[in-house]
Amino acid sequence: MRDEEMIAPEFGTGIAADMLHWYDRNARDLPWRIPPGDAQVPDPYRVWLSEVMLQQTTVAAVKDYFHRFTARWPTVADLAAAEDGAVMGEWAGLGYYARARNLLKCARVVAQEHNGQFPDSYDGLLTLPGIGPYTAAAISAIAFDRPETVLDGNVERVMARFHDIHTPLPAAKPMLHDCATKQTPQHRPGDYAQAVMDLGATICTPKSPACGICPLREPCAARLAGTASELPKKIPKMPKPTRRGIIYLARRSDGAWLLERRPDKGLLGGMLGWPGSDWGEVAVEAPPLNADWVTLPAEVRHTFTHFHLILTVRYAQVANETTPNQGAFVAVADFRPSDLPTVMRKAFDLWHGA
Ligand code: SF4
Repeated sequence: MRDEEMIAPEFGTGIAADMLHWYDRNARDLPWRIPPGDAQVPDPYRVWLSEVMLQQTTVAAVKDYFHRFTARWPTVADLAAAEDGAVMGEWAGLGYYARARNLLKCARVVAQEHNGQFPDSYDGLLTLPGIGPYTAAAISAIAFDRPETVLDGNVERVMARFHDIHTPLPAAKPMLHDCATKQTPQHRPGDYAQAVMDLGATICTPKSPACGICPLREPCAARLAGTASELPKKIPKMPKPTRRGIIYLARRSDGAWLLERRPDKGLLGGMLGWPGSDWGEVAVEAPPLNADWVTLPAEVRHTFTHFHLILTVRYAQVANETTPNQGAFVAVADFRPSDLPTVMRKAFDLWHGA
């Protein structure tokens, strides 16, 4: 397809025109994306699902989850009708589990209160559970081609460099948002938003921006100033504290495992897990039943957003008639290690390899 067929002549020649021109040739092939020039209309369900999955998570990690979710629940109505445990199990390993709980809530609100249709505006999307300003802007732009300002980490980096902004993040956010708003075109704003995201993901990368092949190389202020790789500036993060805890893997003689569904609120909320102690500066014993607990030789180490966690893992084989004071036994036929969040799965893998 020739350039002038992709970009309307009245569109002008600013950054948006250069970005769309570049995007038409270099758009990433993503399972939730309608390629530029394709006559299909984006499915808001798939756009929403991908945007929720991509929060705090890489494209590479999300792809398989996206395929599994859309194969199992092809529409928002299918997802709304799913059992909570099935969705939490399918989400296991993707992290930030509040997203999965909100995903279900949102699907049910869309199915029940919006007749299965996502609202087609930023303000309408903002009313839905789990959809904040960034996600509302992204869905509004990508699914409905609205000229909203989409500012994720990739776009922040491109804007900071293009304008050579040295104010550190997060204080620079309003300034970067303002820059991004001014650049957002009325023509093909959905493709433009995805173009800037793609540029940040593939060319204007955090460590070594490939300025030589960048469509913005000529006007880019940071390239001209030689400051690209220093930007965006960030306030140094505080070192993460380390917390400790103990988890207990109890297995009945018939093979059933003792598991608990964690409370909806809090870390790993709503997910399956091994019973255990609170996590604090020191680990405190909290066995879910009396048994001859054996300590596995290795510990689980896991890093959450705000802290590192070290878990001691104890294991016991118990009689079939054992009654726990925490959790419930799950028959071996009903136990899928893949339903466990990563930190709990690590404990199971340690036991498996012990
Ligand atoms: S020229 Fe370099 S620094 Fe500027 S936007 Fe392109 S890749 Fe980023």
